[in-house]
Amino acid sequence: MNTRNEQLFERAQRRIPAGVNSPVRAFGAVGGTPPFFERASGAHLWDADGRRYIDYVGSWGPMVAGHTHPAVVEAVQAAASRALSFGAPTEAEVELAETLCRLVPSIEMLRLVSSGTEATMTAIRLARGFTGRSLIVKFEGCYHGHADSLLVKAGSGALTFGNPSSAGVPPEVAGHTLVLSYNDLSQVENLFKEKGNQIACVIVEPVAGNMNLVLPAPGFLEELREQCTRHGAVLLFDEVMTGFRVALGGAQARYGIRPDLTTLGKVIGGGLPVGAVGGRREIMEKIAPLGPVYQAGTLSGNPVAVAAGLATLKLVQEKDFQSKIEATTRSLIEGLMKEANSAGVTFSAQSIGSMFGLYFRASPPTSFAEVMECDKERFNKFFHAMLVLGVYLAPSAYEAGFVSAAHGVVEIEKTLAAARETFRGL
Ligand SMILES: *Cc1c(COP(=O)(O)O)cnc(C)c1O
Repeated sequence: MNTRNEQLFERAQRRIPAGVNSPVRAFGAVGGTPPFFERASGAHLWDADGRRYIDYVGSWGPMVAGHTHPAVVEAVQAAASRALSFGAPTEAEVELAETLCRLVPSIEMLRLVSSGTEATMTAIRLARGFTGRSLIVKFEGCYHGHADSLLVKAGSGALTFGNPSSAGVPPEVAGHTLVLSYNDLSQVENLFKEKGNQIACVIVEPVAGNMNLVLPAPGFLEELREQCTRHGAVLLFDEVMTGFRVALGGAQARYGIRPDLTTLGKVIGGGLPVGAVGGRREIMEKIAPLGPVYQAGTLSGNPVAVAAGLATLKLVQEKDFQSKIEATTRSLIEGLMKEANSAGVTFSAQSIGSMFGLYFRASPPTSFAEVMECDKERFNKFFHAMLVLGVYLAPSAYEAGFVSAAHGVVEIEKTLAAARETFRGL
């Protein structure tokens, strides 16, 4: 007899490619049947077979306050009963813009969009329109959504003109994207020496969370700031993931770097689709209809989504919210390292804010190449054993994990007990 999850997965695959609406959800990396979820509350998820899990995915980042937080649900219901969409301005959008500008001071003006992908795509166009240059620089292993010019990884080694890493991206488009190694200061310096006056922008995850978790090396973000300033390029921090996770003011607040443009998403929608691109006024004033850089969206600033974002941002500003969630996350990774150590498993872990990385490797990686050295087979075993014990981790060795404010001592202890059993069986 198939479980209901299995039945649903079979049915899904007949009409939806791989049965999912975003690729990692298909469990391709780890194998097996993904749970189909029915409801969530606080730190927990329930699947179609009625099984309960402690959630460390948090919808890939947005659910920082925990699932179905009463204040957020109430705000959404109230907004929905007033209107689902106007396609016209509302006061709540202004309030969200004001809140984001206050919390992230490098943002002087911003525009709301409906996803992180839209935010980065718009930010790149703005940087090009502002500078009149075409080249963009990104780093291997950083993910910035699925716009054509950003779906480019690196060939190995030093700076290369990018090859498309997705079919369907014309080489002419990918050719304007230069890919460097994350944390490699000398590559940055050399590239700017050679092509500095052609570079429109450098886009970077200031803490990389899409190749597992990789922290910026001392001086890396500073070097980017310095080179961009010197050569008139736009420094674009993609804080879609790190915003309100690494610190209340994002990674830029934690590391004390002021980018020219910032993209936000995930947490600012509280689980509904909201993204934002913002930054220096003189750049933002280039956007239509004030300026020549076109951008638009039928559902941009949607009142229900904005209500969820505002309610979530109210929660993250509460006293001790950040310090508590950061301490919970640290207790999780310290506990995991202890359990792995006593089971004799080669393992390391680290956290920043409410993001964490788990590595089947002796020490945390500092580059994409080092991330690739992690023992993927061991991760897959670990993942499935934890899943069976009711702990839902991201189904890939290359994703960061997320803790919410609803995770407490009880959830962490249950997770560590599951990890103890799992590490012993690895
Ligand atoms: C998730 C993510 C995106 C893409 O956001 P979507 O809402 O999935 O389009 C862009 N950049 C970073 C850093 C992300 O983590």
